Amino acid sequence: AVRVRFCPSPTGNLHVGNVRTALFNWAFARHHGGTFVFRVEDTDAARDSEESYQGLIASLRWLGLDWDEGPEVGGDLGPYRQSQRMDTYAEVVEKLIAAGYAYYAYDTPEELEERREQARAEGRSSGYDGLHRDLTAEQRAEFEATGRKPVVRFRMPDEPITFDDLVRGEVTFDPEHVSDYVIMRANGQPLYTLTNPVDDAAMGITHVLRGEDLLSSTPRQIPLHRALVALGIGEGVVPQYGHLPFVMGPGNRKLSKRDPGGGLDTYRERGFLPEGLLNYLALLGWSIGGDRELFSLAEMAEAFEIERVNPNPAQFDLKKCEAINAQHIRELDVSELAGRLVPYLTDAGLLGPEPTSAELELLAQATPLVNERITVLSEAVDMLAFLFVGDATFRVDPDDAAKLLTEDGLGVVRAAHDALAGLETFDTPSIEQALRDALVEGLGLKPRHAFGPVRVAVSGRRISPPLFESIELLGKERTLTRLAAALG
Ligand code: GLU
Repeated sequence: AVRVRFCPSPTGNLHVGNVRTALFNWAFARHHGGTFVFRVEDTDAARDSEESYQGLIASLRWLGLDWDEGPEVGGDLGPYRQSQRMDTYAEVVEKLIAAGYAYYAYDTPEELEERREQARAEGRSSGYDGLHRDLTAEQRAEFEATGRKPVVRFRMPDEPITFDDLVRGEVTFDPEHVSDYVIMRANGQPLYTLTNPVDDAAMGITHVLRGEDLLSSTPRQIPLHRALVALGIGEGVVPQYGHLPFVMGPGNRKLSKRDPGGGLDTYRERGFLPEGLLNYLALLGWSIGGDRELFSLAEMAEAFEIERVNPNPAQFDLKKCEAINAQHIRELDVSELAGRLVPYLTDAGLLGPEPTSAELELLAQATPLVNERITVLSEAVDMLAFLFVGDATFRVDPDDAAKLLTEDGLGVVRAAHDALAGLETFDTPSIEQALRDALVEGLGLKPRHAFGPVRVAVSGRRISPPLFESIELLGKERTLTRLAAALG
């Protein structure tokens, strides 16, 4: 059975590149009816934090990428936080050393550097030269006597490592470029190079799908996996690997964790729908077929084939991402969309922590006025603010006022006020009729000139949701108050 994992380190905000990795793993697992394992690689106490750990979980929950084993859900092969598996790593290192797959190396950083320089000068590979591969017990004792503390290195086989990458096809690494690497520091701290494959083995991971930046780790991890299998450690599987293409940001640079536009939190704050963002991220290296760009997570899972992932770098295009998100917003039904807008209006102070049913009703009525006009949820805040802000705090945008509430403009506002004041039935058709009669017929204005000043006076801005509907929702009393206020 297929078992895949997503295993970020809690070192800050998740990055859209990581989210793409999570998504492809999730989709692969769901497509094959397999298991999606969520593991947290938190062995670096200096960089990891509990806050980021909680943030990771919250992010995956928000995205809706449900995991079958991992934090909060448990599983038979846990714990799923590496910080709780330290004993395992220490035991594995001992077994690897006892069987000759790994060894203690006592080189000091200065010695290593000197030999590296020498190697470079002679045009040789500057990786570890294997000097301490086969120390005798006496040599080790001598180093120990001088107080040196050894690191542990994995002994790489002296032959090329070839594997069939699920995305890139056959890949071969020459032994010259993959030297014996450190798996445990002198202070006993296990490194990613060890903990990651050990846990993949322990958790029976069958397929490792991860970013191309980790391609060079794979020729190291495969022999380690083989050693673990030979020693009977773990579930006995050497996973297949697939490396997902780089995601390039603006200027054709690799999108990195440090890019301001790269962090998931920004997308969440701006009001991307998880389904919109994931739909876009799915297109970074994969396609559902033909020119089709819009699909749901369920449709992606149904169609996802790793063979269809394109190894070429993918370009992250924010405009496109927004356009796809806008489509998903339009597809939501109104009450669902209204519900998703609530936190944004709350954050902006337009709704209290516990909105009243009248406020929620107003929001539900206003949502159809904006659902085709926003690309992200936060844009609705400015558009709908005029409905939720108290009359005492309502302000007209000064620039828009200067442009439209001129002497002529105020004449229009006065006529609008009087026309609406006389209305018995205050609904959209009556409001439209009254304003057309008074302003277009009565004052002889073009509609373009007639409605601008009214719009600014009631909504505070030159750009607002459709005017007549907005006025209906605002209600007669508040509308007249605002028109009167504009008149001073
Ligand atoms: N913790 C590693 C990372 O976040 C996992 C890499 C891998 O998938 O092997 O980069």
